[in-house]
Amino acid sequence: MIITRQKPLEEIKETLSRYKGVALIGCGGCVAFYQTGGTKQTKEMAAKLREAGVNVVALGVSNRQCYLCEEKEVANLSDAERIRKVARELEGFSKLEEAEAVLSLACGVGVQNLANILDMPVLPAQNTLFMGRRRVEGDFDLEQCIGCGNCILAFTGGICPVTRCAKSLMNGPCGGVFNGMCEVSKSRVSEHPVPCAWIEIYNKLKKQGRVDEMRKIRPPKDFTKAAHMRKVAWGL
Ligand code: SF4
Ligand code: SF4
Repeated sequence: MIITRQKPLEEIKETLSRYKGVALIGCGGCVAFYQTGGTKQTKEMAAKLREAGVNVVALGVSNRQCYLCEEKEVANLSDAERIRKVARELEGFSKLEEAEAVLSLACGVGVQNLANILDMPVLPAQNTLFMGRRRVEGDFDLEQCIGCGNCILAFTGGICPVTRCAKSLMNGPCGGVFNGMCEVSKSRVSEHPVPCAWIEIYNKLKKQGRVDEMRKIRPPKDFTKAAHMRKVAWGL
């Protein structure tokens, strides 16, 4: 899942301030799961913005905003018709022509994908943080992957040291681990200290009878495979 958090309302209001009418389009994908951009949140955002004096003319929710349609499928349509094609109406789609901008409650990928098929401005309601999962016990979201381009989970018990070790060590643990916890996490996220990734890797490999994997010295990570901008050719 892509983890997002809603931007401060004041910032959203500021970005919308130059437009006379705005349409809100939520996302039914990961952000809906993480309760930042689904149907309920789109309606709540509309209520907050209206209370703050923003003219919200229409609300809708797309399926995954990171995949909507091909550009050629909407080439001859107006922006309002394009929105009707890719989003399910929650309210006011008959007034879509009055919208001068769209506020997207999706991740940065969804916002850019919607912006790609609309001529009008598409503005983000969320800050996109990382690829991760919900860690229920601690009530916080945990980064799991940065898309490094060369996955090593096969050797690390399915636990990613690139994201879950504060130093992204390829061979750990470091000397600072204390009581199984990461020394860095305490100062970086003081409310939520997290376990040392390499202790977790060790425990997992031990359970699987594969501790020998930790005795092999892994080379430094080749981050050239993560250099921007990347693309993948279909069929490879
Ligand atoms: S090793 Fe790379 S691709 Fe694999 S989970 Fe970690 S960051 Fe993602
Ligand atoms: S304590 Fe563990 S997770 Fe933290 S930096 Fe050291 S090896 Fe990485």
